Amino acid sequence: MLSTPSRSPRWAIPHQFAAEKATTVVRDIELTVGRTGAVTPTAKLEPVSVGGVVVQNATLHNEDEIKRLDVRIGDTVIIQRAGDVIPQVLSVVLDKRPAGAKPYHFPKTCPCPLRTPLVREKTASGEEGAIIRCSGEFACPYQKIEHLKHFVSRRAFDIEGLDDNIQPKAELTVKAKKADGKVVEFKATALLNTEVEVNYYRNGGILHTVLRNLMK
Ligand SMILES: [Zn+2]
Repeated sequence: MLSTPSRSPRWAIPHQFAAEKATTVVRDIELTVGRTGAVTPTAKLEPVSVGGVVVQNATLHNEDEIKRLDVRIGDTVIIQRAGDVIPQVLSVVLDKRPAGAKPYHFPKTCPCPLRTPLVREKTASGEEGAIIRCSGEFACPYQKIEHLKHFVSRRAFDIEGLDDNIQPKAELTVKAKKADGKVVEFKATALLNTEVEVNYYRNGGILHTVLRNLMK
């Protein structure tokens, strides 16, 4: 195998950020559904300053990690932040565990309105993988939103009102320039629920994209 030359000279590579730690309390454990339906748990934290940055979220990666750490809502935890990577929970301060804190049970259904069962992915060798997915696939509204975000993030469209807090019901407006130069607007909910076909141009070249129910 050929060694790939580094894209930037060695001196331009930023040195490793020193990891910084802090102690805070887990207020809640929230699940987010990604574009592929993978469900990721996040610890919602009492805001704490870590290396000059206020941190309110730390990833818990997956169900196995929650079990390994035995993180419970109300627990005091040590978190670590390194550079721009999302902070993670390192360990639980057991001495500070509130009486009555219950072990966290990973839900069996997607937090999306469909409440479809969550399934654990199988690895190539047929073993149980760490990733848990919503089985709703393209019907899952949360996955639809992530697809839409991904789609628009390719800068094919001018977007109004797209942010991380977008809810499946949010009236997001998507503007697209058609082949004849006419600008058309769609509501995100329309994009999610109807069949839309758009041809658009970019950089003088034709980029033909068919949004067929965006998710189908
Ligand atoms: Zn779902």
